[in-house]
Amino acid sequence: MRLPALRIALAAVLVVGSCVSARADDVDFVIQAGHEGRPESCAPLHVKACNLGTGAAGERERDWTRIVADETARKLRAAGYTVVRRPADYPAHDTARAAVFLHFDGSSVACRSGASAGFPAETSRAFIDAWERRYRALFPYRFVGENFTTNEREYYGFRKVDAPEKLLIEFGEMTCPEQYAWMAPRLHELGDLVAAFLIEQTPR
Ligand SMILES: [Zn+2]
Repeated sequence: MRLPALRIALAAVLVVGSCVSARADDVDFVIQAGHEGRPESCAPLHVKACNLGTGAAGERERDWTRIVADETARKLRAAGYTVVRRPADYPAHDTARAAVFLHFDGSSVACRSGASAGFPAETSRAFIDAWERRYRALFPYRFVGENFTTNEREYYGFRKVDAPEKLLIEFGEMTCPEQYAWMAPRLHELGDLVAAFLIEQTPR
């Protein structure tokens, strides 16, 4: 008599457990901080191209992306949305309504780059246009284009999430002194901007 009862209890635990994990994977937004956690995360996750990102004036891209991503996640959660906050490398696969991958650019020739956007073919034109409109209104420097490098167009992070809208954002060029000086005091503002954009573009 005791054994079936135990089995039922175990089955209940398994059912509850699977529901919880399904919910944890299925969120409103995935926010990735570009290069965060590298280089330590590359070897354990078998990442061959361990791109550490750019940097300038003693600041690293991966420290800036962490600040912006944390602020975006904080704002979204405060507004009641569910968020998965990801670093550069992680074993999980997510399902979300939208995913953004946050970066700053670098150039071997200073100020040759600027802001840009990367996205896979399935991201809607309306989503891209809405971000570009919003960011161009704020960012006073060059917008260098869409999917202008292979890394942007075929970003590995796009394959790690199922979402109708995926967007890699390059906020600007860290190695350009003017852009750097404009961005450095605005990292929280950039995070708030991304959160407001996501809330506006993916109504519940
Ligand atoms: Zn980057």
